[in-house]
Amino acid sequence: MTQEFRADLHCHSTCSDGSLTPVEIVHLAKEIGLSALSITDHDTIEAYKTATAAAQEAGIELITGIEFSSSQDGESVHILGYGFDTDNEAINTLCAKHKERRSKRNGMILDLLKKHNMPLTEDDLPKATKKTVGRPHIAQAMVEKGYVATIQDAFRKYIGEGCPCYTTGPVFTVAETIDVLHKANAVAIIAHPHIINDNRLINELLELPFDGIECYYARYPATSHDRWLKIATKHHWLITGGSDFHGAVKPNLPLGSSWIDQEHFTNLKNALQPR
Ligand code: AMP
Ligand code: ZN
Ligand code: FE
Ligand code: FE
Repeated sequence: MTQEFRADLHCHSTCSDGSLTPVEIVHLAKEIGLSALSITDHDTIEAYKTATAAAQEAGIELITGIEFSSSQDGESVHILGYGFDTDNEAINTLCAKHKERRSKRNGMILDLLKKHNMPLTEDDLPKATKKTVGRPHIAQAMVEKGYVATIQDAFRKYIGEGCPCYTTGPVFTVAETIDVLHKANAVAIIAHPHIINDNRLINELLELPFDGIECYYARYPATSHDRWLKIATKHHWLITGGSDFHGAVKPNLPLGSSWIDQEHFTNLKNALQPR
């Protein structure tokens, strides 16, 4: 019996803050019967150096993807991009700028932690040469030093938004991020609107030139999808979905916990024809 078509278009590898390598994710996707996959690491496309060949070998359809961090009026917004060439200059330039941004921002967070008597150095964090280093890695280092009991505690008490050691650091706007994706002939998708609590921000995002919205997300129940599906229909936008799998880092979110069917996946691919 062939399983129904399922495409999980949102997950993270060891190239950002996930615990499985890109190749391990491809193999897991095969094992659980996914037909298509996108690895959407934070601000990097490094995964595709190894994932592309592995997917070909495993017979999984892999579509290029990324989750860019951006900012709208001081609020953090995640933007999913799909369907670029991995050698595209606009994408690679923005990834390089994010690396610089994160290096400055991580330094600022370490300064704040030092002021709160929780000193960490760059050596306590993973090397940023081939991966995106961010708050989850800082949280992990805080656990290892015994400053907090768990990663959750680190976010809740110190480095989560609004906490004493949190800072956005330098930012890129939503508009400029969408623009880079369009220059790369990729589509720009509003990531996980389900977790945006601010309706004013949602309404602002709906006015911007996005191509789609992530209607199916993580383990949100079917009843929570309707609002986003209606918005997608109204705007003639693409409908995407995915698990936001991070491996052991977020054990409650298995790969394949959200997905899109063949029709929505085909619509996405059709939107990627040269414009
Ligand atoms: P950054 O991109 O460096 O700002 O880190 C954001 C990432 O941290 C998110 O994409 C999540 O994967 C992770 N994160 C955010 N809040 C939490 C939390 N409370 N517990 C664990 N991980 C979190
Ligand atoms: Zn993450
Ligand atoms: Fe996200
Ligand atoms: Fe994500």
